[in-house]
Amino acid sequence: MGWHHLNPEDEYRERAMPEIEVWADLTITASCRKCGLFQGAEGVVNADDDPRCPDCGKKAKIKEISCDYQWYYWYCVPGCLPSSECFGPYQSEQAAIDAARGFNDIDYE
Ligand SMILES: [Zn+2]
Repeated sequence: MGWHHLNPEDEYRERAMPEIEVWADLTITASCRKCGLFQGAEGVVNADDDPRCPDCGKKAKIKEISCDYQWYYWYCVPGCLPSSECFGPYQSEQAAIDAARGFNDIDYE
């Protein structure tokens, strides 16, 4: 659980700010009347015991909460709000980190 860099080589550079936050959370399966069934991290979907659909923001109904923890990530710099939605679940921390880095594996030139 913690912070990671988009570029793995930056892990060794102390001054570089991490851009990925990875954590373990329970997985909620819930339904939104507008968007249908979805899954998400308990701490994100059910913040303040008020389950919300991540797509439309409407109130959602919890169907199931997982027994074990799975891994989630979002793009975020320490001290700032996340700059993306929350992605997951993944089976391991490394799988979440790999997915976060893979998404950025685009050549913009
Ligand atoms: Zn919705």
